[in-house]
Amino acid sequence: MNILKGAETAKALTEKAASIADSLRRPPKLVIIRFGAEGSDVSYENGAKKRMAKCHIDCESRVYEPDTDPEEFFREFAALNADEDVDGILVLQPLPAGISASRLFSSMDPEKDMDGAAPENRLRLFEGRKCVYPCTPEAVIRMIEQAGIELKGKRAVVIGRSLVVGKPLAMMLLERHATVTVCHSRTENLTSVCREADILIAAVGRAEMIDGSYIKEGAAVFDVGINVTSDGRLVGDCLTSDLSKASFVTPVPGGVGSVTTSVLALHVAEAAAKKLADG
Ligand code: NDP
Repeated sequence: MNILKGAETAKALTEKAASIADSLRRPPKLVIIRFGAEGSDVSYENGAKKRMAKCHIDCESRVYEPDTDPEEFFREFAALNADEDVDGILVLQPLPAGISASRLFSSMDPEKDMDGAAPENRLRLFEGRKCVYPCTPEAVIRMIEQAGIELKGKRAVVIGRSLVVGKPLAMMLLERHATVTVCHSRTENLTSVCREADILIAAVGRAEMIDGSYIKEGAAVFDVGINVTSDGRLVGDCLTSDLSKASFVTPVPGGVGSVTTSVLALHVAEAAAKKLADG
């Protein structure tokens, strides 16, 4: 079994984003919106800022209190949306109760939507048209491509059906001609469904749930999960030490999660290139 780290994919995407950024008449600009100071949000934001710097992309954070007046927030958001100098916006989720996700993403310019959450991007993804993909599922696809794993005609099983990971990833796999099954908490005989997978993707959020009994000989396993155990370990959804039958397994940390900020950087660079070419 090979451990498939994200470093090579992240490096290739970072170089591509930097080379696009360097070809433009001004640096691309990303704005990250964060509510509150939840640890995982702050650490993702810090990682994203470092990645943008490596790609020569300007990055600004806008931090709001979770009890910010929604009308005031949406006024500022509209101005940001209309700001010609801003190429991309990333809103860290979940949002506080007072801020409607559907209002926010419906009002977001789809060209500035760096995480494929605006309705127009979701529609285009569903219809198989060009769109901005959500970063995490795209990171999985980029790792599959980088590793040279064939998708056409292969059986892919995705565990998880969230709007952030499972559903969009299923669409992307389908678009690449995999035969896709999506599993969730009500799926019966989950282990035997997973054992049919040539490519198994776990986006469950349950620490080390996927053991060897879920794995077909030679399967490629992509672990999207990020979980902290009661003894403070950061682990994925897969019990990697038990997956010797797999051909590839992505580690946590250092796997899928380590590629997402490079995908984000590429989205920002491409959005800026499109805008500057259009303008
Ligand atoms: P959600 O909680 O929104 O979705 C989890 C999915 O797993 C649901 O569809 C749920 O089913 C399903 N599920 C839960 N328990 C089981 C079970 N016992 N058997 C089968 N299916 C189950 O999580 P997200 O999609 O947002 O995230 C999934 C994981 O990925 C998390 O660990 C998260 O931290 C991580 N993540 C990692 C990112 C990265 O950059 N690497 C980015 C985003 C997320 P049902 O729909 O029936 O409830």
